[in-house]
Formats: sequence, C-alpha cells, structure tokens
Amino acid sequence: MVHAGHIPDAVTGARAVPIYQTTSFVFDDAEQAAQLFELKQYGNIYTRISNPTTAVFEERIASLEGATGAVATASGMAAQLVTFLTLLQPGDEIVASSQLYGGSNTQLVHTLKKFSIGVRFVDPFRIRDWEAAITPRTKALYGETIGNPRGAILDIRRLADLAASAGIPLIVDNTMATPALCRPIEHGATLVVHSATKFIGGHGTAIGGVLLDSGKFDFSTYPSIAAPSPAYHDLRFHDTFGHYGFLVKARAETVRDTGACLSPFNAFLLIQGLETLSLRMERQTGSALRVAQYLEAHPAVAWVAYAGLPSHPDHALARKYLPKGPGAVFSFGLKARSGEDARAAGKKFIEGLQLFSHLANIGDVRSLVIHPASTTHQQLTDEDLAKGGVGPELIRLSIGLENVEDLLWDLDQALHAL
Ligand SMILES: *Cc1c(COP(=O)(O)O)cnc(C)c1O
Repeated sequence: MVHAGHIPDAVTGARAVPIYQTTSFVFDDAEQAAQLFELKQYGNIYTRISNPTTAVFEERIASLEGATGAVATASGMAAQLVTFLTLLQPGDEIVASSQLYGGSNTQLVHTLKKFSIGVRFVDPFRIRDWEAAITPRTKALYGETIGNPRGAILDIRRLADLAASAGIPLIVDNTMATPALCRPIEHGATLVVHSATKFIGGHGTAIGGVLLDSGKFDFSTYPSIAAPSPAYHDLRFHDTFGHYGFLVKARAETVRDTGACLSPFNAFLLIQGLETLSLRMERQTGSALRVAQYLEAHPAVAWVAYAGLPSHPDHALARKYLPKGPGAVFSFGLKARSGEDARAAGKKFIEGLQLFSHLANIGDVRSLVIHPASTTHQQLTDEDLAKGGVGPELIRLSIGLENVEDLLWDLDQALHAL
C-alpha cells in the first residue's frame, strides 16, 4: 500500500509520488521514437497511453491484487468497457450475474448491443444456470465479488472452474471488496476490474478505474488476443507479449482509441487513497457490522441484507471469500405501515438523517445513504429491478470512518421520527 511501484525520485529525491502533469514526453532520438511506437521498447509517448504517476498507481494496485499488471482508466465504467472491447468482437456474448451495479447493467445491455455483443444474465447463486447459458459464442463470465445492492457473494472458485472448463476468462468487479478484503485472482479469477472512485480513493475526490490481469489465462487460442490485430498493423499480442498480451492490447489499442485514460492528478489522488486502504476497510467493515446488527434488531426495519450477518443467504460464502468481513456497503428495508407507501417512508427516513450524506456514491470516508429505486436504478424497468433484488423500500448505506456510536445515534433518531 505504501511502497509498491515507487522509489524516491532519482532527480529530485522527492519521497512522495510526484505528479507528472504533462501530456507528452521528449524522445531521445528518432530511432527511440520509432521503437516506442512499434512497442519494441517500453516508455512514455503520450499521457493518453501511459504516464509515470499513473504507472505507480497501476503497479501498486497490481501488487495488492496479485496481478501481473494493470491499466488505469478514467472511471470504473471505462475499466469495464476497455476490458470488453479488448476481449470481444461483434457476435460474441457474455454471461453475467443479474446482481450488478445499475450502471454496469445498462452498459452491458445497451452499449455493448451497439457493438453487436450480447449478454445473458443469470442468478449468481445458480452455477447450473451459468453453465446452461454458455454457448459457443460466449467469450467471458462476469460478476461482482459483492453484488450491488443485495450483497450477493460471488462463488468465485466455482465460476473460475466453470470458466476454465469452457476455455474463457472469468472477469470479477472487485470494487466493493477491494484487495484488502478479497483478492479474486487467488480464487481463480482471470481479470479484475475496479471502480477506484469508491474505497480505493476513499476520499470521494476522484473518478477513476483500473483493470488487471492475473497473467494465468492461456490467450494463445483466444481470437482477439491471439489473431493478428488490424488496429495495430497486424500485431499478434499473445505471440509478442506472452502473458502481458491482454494488457498491452488494452493499453496500446483500446485505451488509445477510446481515450478513456486516467489523468495523472487523479492517479496521484488514488495513490493517496491506496496508502491507507486496509486500515479504512478494517474500520469501515467493523462499523458496518455494528450498524447492520443494530438495524436488524430495530422494530421499524423489515430486513437487513448484509452478508456479515448469519441471516444473509450468502453468509457462508462471505466467510469463505471475505474472512475480514463483506465490506461496508449494504442495504435494508423499512417496514411499510398499512396504507403507507414504502417509497414515501424511504424518502422521509433519508431526509431525517443528519450525519449520513444523501448522494450517489459508496466507499467514502463519510457515511452515505441512497434510495436506489429513485436514483441509481431509476433507468431499470420494474421487472429488471425485481431481477436485481431492488424493491422500493430498499435503502443502501455506505459506512464511513465516523465513530460508530455517532452513526447509531443518527439512524436511531431518523427511525424514531418515522
Ligand atoms: C461505481 C461502480 C462502478 C462504476 O464506476 P465509476 O467509477 O463510477 O465509473 C462499477 N462497478 C461497481 C460495483 C461500482 O460500485
């Protein structure tokens, strides 16, 4: 968290990671320039493709996830899109968990459709459904370590085995867990994506993302990585770069062409976040359990979906994959009294809170609250909402670094006012 990917600056001696706020880098000579452009030599050309500050962030997160390398992106959505556009071709399909972040759901269904890439959603618990959904067109499996917002825990090992037997990569969005709580690669995941906007940054100041490769998947027969690439003068990324093939293609081709790069300043902010990641996760996860226990015992609360509680259907999976606790984000349902609209009760509750901030984010050092049915999941139809397990009474909390007694006080007074 504090050392990987960086040594004190050779020129100035600066101990902290400097911000290389530059668009471009001077070539040594014409020969070196040509070598860089042909990917025959590593080095910086233009910050849309790579940057020394961003490289520290990439190496540090790769070290934390146990990955072979990483490519940083402008956002979590960009990390996913870059991953999909690097792997997939028109006509390909993905099989994905039905319990995903709302924005990921929209990206998979609507944006990938424009590239003629199809998606089949399956219940994350039912491994047989995943298996049945795989066709010869399927090129990847996709799920979240901790699903949004019902806290479903992905059975990474079983899905990794299924993906391996089908000869396709398993991609895991590890945003909600972070490598401080779970390292999906240790359980067999091929690729990991993150929204670094959340716990990795932690301070709520920068949007960013990152994609990582375990380096363990055999891409030698995987069409988009093995075949000559017309977008890079017929380079064969697997033949040329071995287990870095996917990442080199993601950077040199997909980030180059989508322009979805991380800015050096945001990379710097995310590095500040990484330095305290495990300490924050430990504290925030511990407080989340306390809050979940308090809410579960409260008469105005209908249910609490936190996999750290024995009442959650995935409690055993959470203990297996997240022994330090299943993160600091969870949801609960308010008990609707007769004739009262659950939506109205949710709104009143949120407006009664004083310490929790009402906003569309998670993973901040400040505690956050939101009502997904009227915000993040608003674009989904009622049917899709039901499939994702998001009812109108559902309130999502992201527990921050405050003293937990203060958080319990705030929830108590807002529930009392209801
Ligand atoms: C926020 C989030 C994303 C999208 O990330 P951005 O940085 O907002 O683009 C993707 N997946 C999950 C699980 C998220 O929470």
